[in-house]
Amino acid sequence: MSKAANNSLIACHDCDLLFRARPLRNGERAACPRCGAVLYHQRPQAINRALIYSLTSLIFFGLANIFPFMTFQMQGREQVTFLTSGGFELLQQGFWGLGVLVLSVGVLLPFLRIIGTLYVLIPLEFNIEAWKAKETFKFIEAITPWAMMEVLMLGVIVAYVKLIDITTIVLGASLYSFAALIFFMTLSAAALEPLEVWERLEQRP
Ligand SMILES: [Zn+2]
Repeated sequence: MSKAANNSLIACHDCDLLFRARPLRNGERAACPRCGAVLYHQRPQAINRALIYSLTSLIFFGLANIFPFMTFQMQGREQVTFLTSGGFELLQQGFWGLGVLVLSVGVLLPFLRIIGTLYVLIPLEFNIEAWKAKETFKFIEAITPWAMMEVLMLGVIVAYVKLIDITTIVLGASLYSFAALIFFMTLSAAALEPLEVWERLEQRP
């Protein structure tokens, strides 16, 4: 039985009913008696797994930024684009808001989320609390809804389908890394139980 979720008061995120949390056994989940929403899980090795998935995400983030994203070939000309090319192109054309938005939700915020998660979780593995760990974790939870790489990916797929008839498009290693990045960040988010992280941080002096 874990020390996580021990006697603290928590509110159902769907209907706001208040509970006194009780410890669960591995694999168990607590559900709200009023609306049925899952309140928290006791996942085996949750922090370990989230840590491994976040490290894998970091590697794919690096690869996604190093290699070409797509290469367009048309009438003997070739144009190589990178993950951030679209965003910077928007900035150069004067679409400041849109450019900043694309670069933020697609690249900057996911990067901050990965780095922030590692910054909090790695010391926790060694039972140490990182400097400003609580603030960092709160920040991660706040930016998570905005780290929308899937939206960027969707835009890419739409562009691909529209352009494939008029130009030859070669998909680069960055695109595959980006897809893997989305997959591993989702795994990391699914593995991590925020309540457990908060409880672990709380136990620190
Ligand atoms: Zn509820």
